[in-house]
Amino acid sequence: MTLDNIISPDKVQAVKQAVDSHSRFVIVCHMTPDGDALGSSLCLWHMLTAMGKSAFVVTPDMPSHNLMFLPGSDKIVVASCHTARAASLLSKTDVIFCLDFNDFMRVDRMKPMLESSQAKKIMIDHHLNPIADVDLLISRPEEPSTCSLLYTLAHSAGWTDSWLDKDGATCCYTGMMTDTGNFSYNSNHPHLYTIIAQLVTKGVDKDAIYNRVMNTNTLQRLRIMGYAEYAKMDILQQHRCALITLSRKELDEFSYTKGDTESLVNVPLSIPGVVYSIYLREDEPDFVKVSMRSRGEFSVKDICEAHFGGGGHHNAAGGEIHASLQEATSQVLAILPQYDHLLPQQPE
Ligand code: 5GP
Ligand code: MN
Repeated sequence: MTLDNIISPDKVQAVKQAVDSHSRFVIVCHMTPDGDALGSSLCLWHMLTAMGKSAFVVTPDMPSHNLMFLPGSDKIVVASCHTARAASLLSKTDVIFCLDFNDFMRVDRMKPMLESSQAKKIMIDHHLNPIADVDLLISRPEEPSTCSLLYTLAHSAGWTDSWLDKDGATCCYTGMMTDTGNFSYNSNHPHLYTIIAQLVTKGVDKDAIYNRVMNTNTLQRLRIMGYAEYAKMDILQQHRCALITLSRKELDEFSYTKGDTESLVNVPLSIPGVVYSIYLREDEPDFVKVSMRSRGEFSVKDICEAHFGGGGHHNAAGGEIHASLQEATSQVLAILPQYDHLLPQQPE
């Protein structure tokens, strides 16, 4: 399976030219970076650094601790900790790569830095309907991950042979794996396996990455996941929906740290008959993070866009509610009936 011509040759040339003709690069991804956001950013950082360019990955906030094994993650600049440095890097660079987001709102406090920077902006992303003001856009919503899209681009640009080493390949594989649940959804694309073959040839240990990311837990994560599944998960039969809520008090009781409930929202989808799942997490008083997942045709992206100021993908989306957990739960319960008619037919 060839990786050529997946991205239009004009766009490949334009990116190649931007890289060849400049020396300073900043790579930015969305807040609360996941494996795909951080993996794609670091993969590109490894390649640019190997080319002898000056490159920095700047993230809006700290990635979760389970991603900090990624080679190069100790070199990232976290804007919430080093705001002045982040602002200076974005204002003094030649090119800014925007990876794994489609809207400047997704970089949170870095939005004004991004908007005011005179640098050339190149967005590489797989979310639907990009609405960012950039100079060059490589958007492929049909791609399962930004990492696979970036690899395809890098391959077409002729970079992977010379500039992608085992470390960069590890970052790339990690994002491909996390955005597809270890190739268990959105993963029936033959070209993914061409990419994996090439990454493994570079020395990627895919079994070790799986064990590190998907099969490594802290005791506190296991406890909070167990508690949420046992005591805080309701199945709303009439909506064929699962609802999980965790209050700030509960998070504190379990010494929650970022990432501890990663993938919790997926769990109820394993119950036959559950079409979609909602997880409400009270991160701060009057701030509730919404995470949604669905199966098949039912779009949680539409719900998150319509009610929670968010978005994402058809089957995986998120947003925010500025209210207490109790109020947020009531709001969610009130909107669910309007989506009942979109549920798939019940099997006989
Ligand atoms: P998660 O539920 O894992 O936080 O996010 C799932 C998907 O929804 C990701 O693709 C993420 O980019 C998107 N998403 C999560 N939160 C938000 C949000 O507040 N706004 C938007 N636009 N997308 C979000
Ligand atoms: Mn992604």
